[in-house]
Amino acid sequence: MAKRDYYEVLGVGKTASKAEIKKKYRQLAKEYHPDRNSASDAEEKFKEVKEAYEVLSDDQKRTAYDQYGHAGTQGFGAGGNGGFSGFSGFEDMGNLNEIFEQFFGGGFSGFGGRGFSSQGFSGQGFGSRGQTSIRGADLEVTLRISFNHAVFGTEKTILYKRKVVCDKCKGKGAEKESDIETCPTCKGSGQIVRVQRTFIGNIQTAARCPECQGNGSIIKTKCSKCRGDGRIEKEEDFSLKIPPGIPDGVTLRFRDRGNAGQGGGNYGDLFVNIEVEQSDEFERRGNDIYSEITINPAQAVLGDIIAINTVHGETKLKIKSGTQPNHIFRLSGKGGPRFRGKGNGDHYIKINVEIPKKPGRKERKIWEKLRDSL
Ligand SMILES: [Zn+2]
Ligand SMILES: [Zn+2]
Repeated sequence: MAKRDYYEVLGVGKTASKAEIKKKYRQLAKEYHPDRNSASDAEEKFKEVKEAYEVLSDDQKRTAYDQYGHAGTQGFGAGGNGGFSGFSGFEDMGNLNEIFEQFFGGGFSGFGGRGFSSQGFSGQGFGSRGQTSIRGADLEVTLRISFNHAVFGTEKTILYKRKVVCDKCKGKGAEKESDIETCPTCKGSGQIVRVQRTFIGNIQTAARCPECQGNGSIIKTKCSKCRGDGRIEKEEDFSLKIPPGIPDGVTLRFRDRGNAGQGGGNYGDLFVNIEVEQSDEFERRGNDIYSEITINPAQAVLGDIIAINTVHGETKLKIKSGTQPNHIFRLSGKGGPRFRGKGNGDHYIKINVEIPKKPGRKERKIWEKLRDSL
């Protein structure tokens, strides 16, 4: 496959500034990150974007690329033969973490695991020899919780399917230990060395061995339980604590609760999207609770003490004499527990005054008297 122009890959002009290039890269890296994008070519695209960025973000490499095209960058080790070398070493995983922190609202990382596991891709490059380890995929589930559970917190158990290490072969994918043999093509090194001619001379590049995919070994008879994958699908329970005051739409991250990796790769993470059910009676704004109550004109004019509902149960509210329609009373400390804090929010209650629609004869008389006195 012909290599695409790096500027084209990032969708920027030849004169694009560094900031522009970085911005585009972040955008595309997020879009094509294989953990988030399940399209079959996402990983390819991700690699392509990463490679283009590596070159265009470096003044020296960019100059060489502008002058010589793809050949110009080979001496620097980026891209190279279109094989795997462009993908090794995820040294700026830090940037990606930053992206994902923003993406998922990093403020919540304190719950389960901490941070997007930075070893995410480190296993995917391959070292001088040995197993290619691939981190397991992240999983995502949506959990609907009741209004009350969101206000006061709860503990939930979710049932979900994930891939775990096969217990029969211990993740090795072979029926028996003796079914694992040294790869005859690469003699166990996992790579094939090629010599390439470039404008700055001959360069040795190592490509992943196509026979064993860089593992250095091949499996004669695959494990009958996992069919050689090294992982099996399993339904699992997972109990999680929902803290009081959790906002609607938040995503909680639980480290290592996703799919098992391959070849000794790390587990992915589990993302739990929280959906809070609405209440007919209350509305939540942060830790504060809002509700409405309807009184009659006499109560508004003369004042009253009435029973109202809060999330903590029934309480008495004193309606002052001369209360106007749409007046809002504040009940201090009667809101929900503060999210990751101490004490409660407040309860705000709006007063509706209902005007009698069809006053009876006796009632009319009283209103008429009232009118005359006003
Ligand atoms: Zn197995
Ligand atoms: Zn091999």
